[in-house]
Parts: sequence; C-alpha cells; structure tokens
Amino acid sequence: MAPKPAEKPNFAFAFDIDGVLLRSKEPLPGSRETIHNLQKLKIPLIFLTNGGGSTEEEHAAKLSDRLGVDIDEAQFVQSHSPYRDLVPLYDNKRILVVGGTGNDIRNVAGAYGFKDVITSSDLFLEQPSIHPFPEVSAPYHNANGRRIPDIRTKEIAAILVWSTSREWTLDMQVMFDLLLSSGGVFGGKSDMAEDVALYNKDYLQDQRPKLYFCNPDLVWVTDHDRPRFAQGSFEAAFEGVWNRLTQGKAKLKYTTFGKPNKKTFEYGERHLKAYYEKLYGPQEKVDSDWPVKTVYMIGDNPESDIIGANSYVSRDTTWKSILVETGVYKAGTEPAHKPTYYAKDVAEAVQLALEKEGYSNIGRQGGLKEHNNIEGRSTKQGHSSRTVGIRMPSPTNNDGGGRNSRVLQDRTNTAGSIEAIAFHFGKLKLLGHETVKPLGNLEDLPNQFKESVPLHMS
Ligand SMILES: [Mg+2]
Repeated sequence: MAPKPAEKPNFAFAFDIDGVLLRSKEPLPGSRETIHNLQKLKIPLIFLTNGGGSTEEEHAAKLSDRLGVDIDEAQFVQSHSPYRDLVPLYDNKRILVVGGTGNDIRNVAGAYGFKDVITSSDLFLEQPSIHPFPEVSAPYHNANGRRIPDIRTKEIAAILVWSTSREWTLDMQVMFDLLLSSGGVFGGKSDMAEDVALYNKDYLQDQRPKLYFCNPDLVWVTDHDRPRFAQGSFEAAFEGVWNRLTQGKAKLKYTTFGKPNKKTFEYGERHLKAYYEKLYGPQEKVDSDWPVKTVYMIGDNPESDIIGANSYVSRDTTWKSILVETGVYKAGTEPAHKPTYYAKDVAEAVQLALEKEGYSNIGRQGGLKEHNNIEGRSTKQGHSSRTVGIRMPSPTNNDGGGRNSRVLQDRTNTAGSIEAIAFHFGKLKLLGHETVKPLGNLEDLPNQFKESVPLHMS
C-alpha cells in the first residue's frame, strides 16, 4: 500500500524549461497540466534553466503566460541568476555585458544592481574601427550604442557574457582586446603580456577584466529541426581563437555558471529553500534539518541537466535526474550521461517521481491529470525491473497495446530506453517507445525477460 503523503512534502522538483516544458515558445504536451497540478498540491518546484536574457520577474511572467499557471519569480533560476551574487564585488565598477539584442542585457544587469554597465555597441560607437567587418551591423550598433564620457579612461573590471552573442565577430574582438589591455582600459594594450618571466606569461593579470560565462550548453532546441548553437559554442569558439592567437602561451581563465556547474545547483537549492519557506513558512533549523530530502531534476540535455544533477553533492538533499525525450535527447540513443530515470515526457517524469514519493493515488483522486499514454501503472519493487502502464495505440492502429493488453514487465535496455512486454490478444509483444513489435509466443521472448514472465502471468 502506498504511504500516505506527508503533510509537508519532503521532496521537490527542478525543471529545465526548453525541451521539457516548452519547445521554442510553445508548451509541450502535458506541461501545462503537470505544473498546474504540482502548484495546486503545493509541491515545491523551481525552474532551473540555462535560458535567460530578461529578469527573473519578466521571465516568470512569460512562462506563466505560456503555461497558463501562476509562477512566482522566486521559483525562477536562469543561467545568469548567479550573477546577482557578483553585484557586491563589482558594486561601482564598470562591467561589459555580452549577448542579447538592443539594450536588453544592459537593462537586466541594471535591474540586478550593477551600476556601471557598457556594451560592445558603446565601444563601437566610440571607435568604429574596432570592428574588422562593420558593413552588416554598423547601423545596429549606432542605434543601440551609448556615448560614455569616460569610456577611454575608466577600467572595465569584468566581462559578463549573459546570453549567446548575436555579433560573434565584434564581441570576440572586443573581449580579446580587453583581456590584453592595460588595466582593463579600452584602447590600450599591456606591454607586459607575453612576458615569459611572469605567471601565465602575464596574460589575464595586471588588473585586466575577469571573464564570466553563464551557460555552457553548446546547443539548444528551437523550432528548427536540428539543435542550434547556444552560448557554450560561443565560449568554445572564443577559447579556440584565444588558444591560437596566444599560441598556447597562456591558458584562458574564466568562470562559468549555468548547469551543469555546481555553483548553479547550489544557487538553485538556496532558492528552493527560500521558496519552500514561502509556501510553508519559516522552517526550524532550515540549514541543518532541511525538510526536503530529494530533488528531482527533470531535463532533456544529458550534458547539462543530467550530469549536473548526478554530480551535485548537497549537504541536505539527494538530487535525482529524470531524462525526457522531448528535446535534445533522442529516445533509443545512448545518452552521454545516464539519468537516474528515463521518461517519455514531463508528465510521465512527474508521475514517476510522485509514485516514488507515495503520491501514486493522486491521479485517481483528480489531483493530477493522468497522462493520455499511460494507464494502470503499478509499482513492483525490484532491483532492475518495474511494471509500467501500456502505451495506448492511436485509434487507427490496431497493432498497439490497447485495453486488451496487459503489461508484464519492463526493463531498461542497453540503449537506455524503456521497453515493456505486453500480453496482447493472446500474443506477447515488446513495447518500445515508438513501435509495438510482435514477439510471438512466450518461448520467443528475449532471454532477459524470461525469468520474470511466469511470475507476472500467474
Ligand atoms: Mg533543455
């Protein structure tokens, strides 16, 4: 019998957004109902995304709109949210922000509390010849750049890449120039760089700007049929150019936030704690006796969501990862990092986690809408197997599972996808993600399933 759900949940969720809840700007099937029901049940959840480009408040409002659910900005952790922690460090110092369009990022940085923010467009306006190929983008920079009176004298203390650069040529050029500058001042080149007597050949020292990135994802899923470059590709390109131009004399030093980095998971957990207190009031001894024991990270990118959650070691909680098939990861392929669990989509992922936490009756009580493709889930504990619901066939496809089928067993196969054996109109069938494969009779079953079949057929 399933345990009674605790009054205050001792588990929580962290959701990736792109490829899990949305594809481009459109909600993926089941995502609205899933978030709506979790919010209704007051199960603590945060959104942990490598997306960004606006403030948490704006982004939460956009997501609320797209999912038709009220989302609190306190639930929102974006790739650049940890930059908030840098505000005291750069208080009145000048920073260069990279990425985004127009003055969006300048405005977000200002909203975070950075007081002196400039863009590549400002530098272009001051000295157009810094752009090696200005033909295409000069009007854009002229329209968006601002005149900064002390732009040639005040030190730029840090370069913060906030989202993917829209102007790789100018941004990389400007970043390179500043990292070789004299004291981070625009226009001057340090004489000391390349001094072999100095540590790192004096590169990236002499008060030159610190460099930060916030999203190591190489690609992301858009409405294009194949993934597109994301900030991680820009970072890799810049580092590649740096290595070639400095001829291996100096290692590029920078800090990267965003999943899968530990700092972002720490930041996310801190916000999850704060949000939990918003839901359930101040928790006694929150730091030493945090009520949440398990956090389920649901994501589509093995290189970001999955490895990040798998490798994050928290003092208070265990993070488990659930990999869905609605984004970067494709069903039936071998993921670079294996998740704790696989699920077809976000609805199935949440259902699986809820069952593990003793909330398995919620669907039937009407709290959680059952997913169309799943029925009759039950849990059989076993070290490598569990029984799952059958995939319902489309109305015109009589080769599917259907109500006359009975699921006997499923396994995670070597490719990492869930398969199930169903007893279907007197014949055994192997149910994969996409297809239902007739297996014939019991003796035709793959060996790994044979041992368990008599048990479940009895
Ligand atoms: Mg994603």
